This record gives sequence, C-alpha cells and structure tokens, in this order.
Amino acid sequence: MLNFKRNDLCLEDVKLSSLAEKFQTALYVYSKKQLLENFRSYKDACGKETLICFACKTNSNAAILKLLANEGAGADTTSGGEIFRCLSAGFSPSKIVYAGVGKTAEEIEYALKNKIFMFNVESFEELAAIDKIAAKLKTKTRFAFRVNPDVDPSTHSYIKTGKKGTKFGIPIEDAVNAYLNAKKYKNVEALGIHSHIGSQILDIKPFKEAALKIKKTISEIEKNGLRIEYINCGGGLGIAYQKSQKAPLPSKLFSEIFNVFKGENRKFIFEPGRSIAANAGHLLCKVIYRKKSGGKSFLITDAAMNDLIRPTLYEAYHDIIPVKKSAAKKVKSDIVGPICESGDFLGKDRMLPVLAQGEYLLITCAGAYGAAMSSQYNSRPMLAEVLVDGASAKLIRKRNSYKDLLFNEM
Ligand SMILES: *Cc1c(COP(=O)(O)O)cnc(C)c1O
Repeated sequence: MLNFKRNDLCLEDVKLSSLAEKFQTALYVYSKKQLLENFRSYKDACGKETLICFACKTNSNAAILKLLANEGAGADTTSGGEIFRCLSAGFSPSKIVYAGVGKTAEEIEYALKNKIFMFNVESFEELAAIDKIAAKLKTKTRFAFRVNPDVDPSTHSYIKTGKKGTKFGIPIEDAVNAYLNAKKYKNVEALGIHSHIGSQILDIKPFKEAALKIKKTISEIEKNGLRIEYINCGGGLGIAYQKSQKAPLPSKLFSEIFNVFKGENRKFIFEPGRSIAANAGHLLCKVIYRKKSGGKSFLITDAAMNDLIRPTLYEAYHDIIPVKKSAAKKVKSDIVGPICESGDFLGKDRMLPVLAQGEYLLITCAGAYGAAMSSQYNSRPMLAEVLVDGASAKLIRKRNSYKDLLFNEM
C-alpha cells in the first residue's frame, strides 16, 4: 500500500509527510487495506473447517484487533493480558487459543472463567495445574499438547521454537505417553495437537516436515482409543523484508499441509501473526542530526531501539526509505536512535540520498513485533499509532506524555 504520488511517498492515499506533520514523529502508521488483505489471504484460502487465529502478540493495538475480530478471526494468545485485550476487542472466546510455557494459576483461572476455546499445553505439570483449577471452578476445558517436532527452519536462532533443546512444547517422542497419561484428568479433554516451529520462515519444507511427524504421532495416539480432532499448525510464515526475499502464499502452506492429512477428516487451526501484521505497518521518523565519525556517516533519528527493537534483538533488516523522492547523490549511512547503547540502530550501511535535517524516513514492515515490543527505555514516551484507510487517517493510540511516564509509580 506504499506508493509514490509524484515525489511523495504515500500510505494508501495519504502522504506520509502530512502524517508526520499532523501527528509528530516518531509514529507508527498502519494500512487498513493491507491488514485486511493479509488476513483475507488466509481466510479465503483455508476452507470452512479451519480457524485462523491471529497471533496477537505481534500487534495488540485495540483498533487493529477489532478490525480482525470483525473479519471473523480467532486469536492466538500468550498471556492473560492478551486474552483480556482480545475479549475487549470483540473476539469470541470460542475462537481464542492460549499458548505459553509459563501460564500462571491466575492466568489459567482467568482463561477458564472466560471459557476460551483451547489451551495449547506446553508441559505435563501445566496440564495438571489446568485440571486442578478447572475442578476448583467446577468447569471443563479442552487442550492440545504443543509438541516439539524437532525440525530446524532456517531463521534467526532466537525465533526457532521447534528444534530439540528449546523450552517450547513437549518432545514429540513423549507425545503418545502424554496423551495417554492425560486420560486420568477429568476436567480437561484432549481435543487437538499443536506445533509452532518458529517465525519468519520463508520455506514451506519445514512446515511439511513437522506435519508429517505429527501425522505419524496422531496415528499412534489414536491406536490407543483417543481422537485428535484439531491439528494446530501454529504460525511462522515469513514476509519479504528485503527485495531479494520471497514469501510463500498462505494458500501454498495450506495445500502442502492439507495434502499431508488428505482423507483424514481433521479440523485445522493456523496462528499467523507476522504475515498478517508486518507489512501493514511502518515506523515514520525524522532525521534530527547528521554526523560523521570514524569514516562513517550517521543519521540520528527520533525513533530508537525502544520503539523498534527488532534490529537490535535479532539483527533484523527493515528497508528504510526517505518519504520524499530525491535526486541527491547517495551515501552509505547508519540510521541510529538517540539512546545510550551501541546496539541502538535501525539500519546499518544503507545507501540513502543525502538528507537534510528534519527530513522524514520510513522504516518499513514494522507492523509486527514493532509497537508491541516497544518500551519506554530512556524514559522515551510510548509512540502514537495511526490507522490509514483510503484518504483518511485516524489516531488509534495517543502518544504518552511525560506525566504518563510516572503512571503507577509512587
Ligand atoms: C509467536 C507465535 C505465533 C505467530 O508467529 P508468526 O511468526 O508471527 O506468525 C503463533 N503461534 C505461537 C504459539 C506463537 O508463539
């Protein structure tokens, strides 16, 4: 939805420079059209029996969640707080699934009282805890064990989750015993099996590899008289952060996975996050100062690692583009924030036209794991967020004030 009108970079029909002037920088900007298009590319290709649960940890802004809830999305949550946000945004509890290795008793109780659809259980002790709390509340619930299928997608090590030796799920070789042992709990019903192998995966093969292992495990579980109705394939599909990358379409993921389970009469859940939110959002910022040091050129912006931590945390690449087309000669620059950390950078060694102080830059594809992961480190108030819809732009989160920095402190 990014496009140039003459020399001005626009999101849908709105000039980014006008957003910067109206709402101040740094600023998160989202395209409603892109967000809905991304969700519909899942929804329209998956068939009736499949539930698409948006992984709301990628972007949990209330307005964004509401748009997806209205489209009929389910939600993949990872904390009591996320369940609260999703219920507030209008998601049906019957479409909420809940994963996470460290669900507390309070979170489990909250999820049970709100009658979420299913727990994605990551350890045997967790299942015992859910059963006990459900008994106390005189209720029953449904669960899937999250299994770790030991596949190795080629992605950053911090976002690999389905490889042996990570903290996630239970080893797939223990799955049959886990399901059999679970029969002793009377307040939890085994309804599905879950796996989520990692994030920013651009190759379908590891998904298929995991599905094949899960198929084999299910057949062993079902030999013992249990029925696994739902297969939850997790999220993880990547996006093209760079022009050299190509992301597979959801329809391709579906066809590969459905093919593995052909003729088995299963229901499916998918939990996409990044592939729905990432390219729908961008971080707009301003060049404050320029300087040269040690043979390098620096552009110092009013956005920093507290606003977008992905470059710092995962050495993630975000394309950075000036919002005015320029014929000026290009120089190699590091784009950095004002924070007192050498890790505070947004891009390194980027060829950008020579920019003046006060010019705006767009850090692209920051809609997932952007605002949601931001902090107020260095007492930098949380940013505002704006949703663009055609030619209109609406504030969907106010910028925090200095006073907000003291919120709850005593
Ligand atoms: C983070 C997460 C997802 C979403 O992953 P993406 O790579 O953003 O699609 C899905 N399921 C679980 C359990 C997760 O933890």
